[in-house]
Amino acid sequence: MPETTRTQVVIVGAGPAGLMISQMLANRGVDSVAIDIRSREEIENTHRAGILEAQAVQMLDDEKVSDRYRTEGYEHEGTDIRVNGVSNRINFKELVGATVWLYPQTDVFIDLANARERDGGDVRFGVSDVKVLDEYSDTPGVSFVDADGNQQEVRGDFLVGSDGSRSICRFLIPEEGRHQYFREYPFAWFGIMCEAPMSYDELIYATSAKGFALISQRTESVQRMYLQCNPSDDMHSWSEDQLWSEFQARLEGPDGFQLKTGPIFERTLLPFRSFVQEPMQHGRIVLAGDAAHTVPPTGARGLNLALSDARALATRLAEAAKANDVSKLDGYQEAALKRIWRAQNFSYWMTTMLHSLPDENPYDYKRRLGELEMVLGHKSGRTHLAEAYSGWPNEEDGL
Ligand SMILES: Cc1cc2nc3c(=O)[nH]c(=O)nc-3n(C[C@H](O)[C@H](O)[C@H](O)COP(=O)(O)OP(=O)(O)OC[C@H]3O[C@@H](n4cnc5c(N)ncnc54)[C@H](O)[C@@H]3O)c2cc1C
Repeated sequence: MPETTRTQVVIVGAGPAGLMISQMLANRGVDSVAIDIRSREEIENTHRAGILEAQAVQMLDDEKVSDRYRTEGYEHEGTDIRVNGVSNRINFKELVGATVWLYPQTDVFIDLANARERDGGDVRFGVSDVKVLDEYSDTPGVSFVDADGNQQEVRGDFLVGSDGSRSICRFLIPEEGRHQYFREYPFAWFGIMCEAPMSYDELIYATSAKGFALISQRTESVQRMYLQCNPSDDMHSWSEDQLWSEFQARLEGPDGFQLKTGPIFERTLLPFRSFVQEPMQHGRIVLAGDAAHTVPPTGARGLNLALSDARALATRLAEAAKANDVSKLDGYQEAALKRIWRAQNFSYWMTTMLHSLPDENPYDYKRRLGELEMVLGHKSGRTHLAEAYSGWPNEEDGL
């Protein structure tokens, strides 16, 4: 017989969305159990997003997660869009009075996992054989094998599917009412982590006839960078010298910019996809984060959206759980989806504006430069970009 636990909210997936929801529920007096198929160490060591909008870091403060970002993160007042070697700084602070924070997803996760542990939260990492039970009943739940090999069952009044882009929970929304909107892109990012000093103190989004490159950072001595590539390119076999000369070629310009390089210790291929599933709720089942939507990383929206879903959901879910009343969830998906589709548009726009398509002809290339000039050369264009990148005000989306 499995060991059985009764809680108010079962959370499948303990990434940023799941843990933030768990933390916010606890702060509102509601119990939850979160489970994750990966170990805590594995999640802590998976490098993903790096940029948090100010409203996302504010959640770390407001929900008493941690203020470590203030000492270990870096506040950026702008970003650089470099077109054929010419820098165009977008000054967020000046244009829209906002900043963003370079604070890696790994640290957000560590802060959330520590906060749940500190506050006595029930989070089970490293589980296997997860099955959702009775999803359309009044007591949905999960069965799984815990990290020690024991069979477990957890039942709640509500179930949150925050199980990422390979979600099993999204398929709990009945097929007849389920819509999946999907786009794939004919390119990918080849990401590296390296031991090197920072080359610049803000992110550089570089586009040139040779393709796109992103220069990002992690710490004073560890840097994150990406090169646009063909998804079928075998860039894992490229030598470090080849990779560095490709990066440098995409950044080369009249200002003589020189990338600071160092030993590469991680290489990853990141395919580009846009995806939204609607609806995000069916009865007592709700979806949040990548389980319901993914964006290509240009524009740094993925992690921010996962946290804004948590913001849209948690208070409603806490009310629903306290009253055991599904109708208290009303308004969640309307608020979340408004922002999700804006972010879909922004990520798509940034992606297509900054990357060369494999079949880009001279007309397409010139048109793209015209678009970049229209955005970067005018205050209205720069303001539009700054507003979206630094995060729209919560009030606009009813969050
Ligand atoms: C390589 C990579 C690089 C990225 N870079 C950026 C970036 O630069 N900027 C940006 O904004 N975004 C980026 N993203 C996207 C960003 O990381 C995600 O949007 C963010 O992680 C979403 O958080 P989440 O909690 O919804 O999902 P996740 O972080 O994916 O968390 C979901 C969790 O659910 C668990 N899980 C999965 N299936 C099950 C199951 N059946 N049962 C239990 N648990 C399960 C997983 O182990 C995982 O821990 C990147 C993503 C990847 C993959």
